[in-house]
Amino acid sequence: MLEAKLAMKTQPGHQTVVHLSEQVAIGGDLLVVIGGPCSVEGVDQMEQVARSLSAIAVTALRGGVYKPRTSPYSFQGMGIDGLRILASLREQYGMPVVTEVMAIAQIEPACAYADMLQIGSRNMQNFELLKAVGQADKPVLLKRGLAATVEEFVMAAEYILAHGNPNVVLCERGIRSFDTFTRNVLDLGAVIGLKQLTHLPVIVDPSHAAGKRELVPNLAKAAIAAGADGLIIECHPVPEQSVSDARQALSLEAMAELMISLEPIAASVGRSLGDSGNVSEAFHRTPGGDRTVIPMAMSV
Ligand code: PEP
Ligand code: MN
Repeated sequence: MLEAKLAMKTQPGHQTVVHLSEQVAIGGDLLVVIGGPCSVEGVDQMEQVARSLSAIAVTALRGGVYKPRTSPYSFQGMGIDGLRILASLREQYGMPVVTEVMAIAQIEPACAYADMLQIGSRNMQNFELLKAVGQADKPVLLKRGLAATVEEFVMAAEYILAHGNPNVVLCERGIRSFDTFTRNVLDLGAVIGLKQLTHLPVIVDPSHAAGKRELVPNLAKAAIAAGADGLIIECHPVPEQSVSDARQALSLEAMAELMISLEPIAASVGRSLGDSGNVSEAFHRTPGGDRTVIPMAMSV
């Protein structure tokens, strides 16, 4: 990886912090959790998501409007209408917004409405797209290719850095294997290695790694324990009805529970989730003393 001269650490402790907004940064002591549905489906869906997540210290909102679908007959995303929905929620809830671009022509509209551009796994080695986001003035979330080596991943980041954009966050989202039990294999060794080799923040997407919602919370905890700088997690008000990636989406209640259960793991690696007072507000104690989740849609 000798050629990755911009991405590599130059000295111990060399760490880039990428700002999504004045309040939200990735790579510092505070862990970042980016939550939201796979696809933006409409105003009501996104409104419920943003309202719930903003109450539980989830720091940024995700939602795809340009979707890379395996089948050309599947939902392809809401496009510009979806971007407008994201932008209005970003204003209303003060949450920065992350969304995927698949083509150079999508960069300009995405920059007008979002705070961070996601390059999806399928485009990790789309070098023209990497050069173009390298010239954009928004931070980039670069997801690891479906079958990319760590070296290829770092070199893809190097493209963006070399074209002038210093604000790159790496995202491990699982790699292909022979095993169909999980959708992909979450490579936590790569997360640890990337943190040692590069100065770029590294976050983990347990949703696309697992492909099954019941595996997501513990993978998320493992990622934080391994030293990740944050998480990006898919969730939906009615997970089974998600138009894409339904099987891996967490409910909004499960997101709230996950945020609570991440706190001690974060503390054990010297990190924190920020204003966890907000997380507790989403819960109340029953007379028996158990923690019970208030349905998120009703909690504000
Ligand atoms: C997504 O984030 O919805 C997505 C398509 O992810 P990936 O590129 O990792 O498959
Ligand atoms: Mn998805």
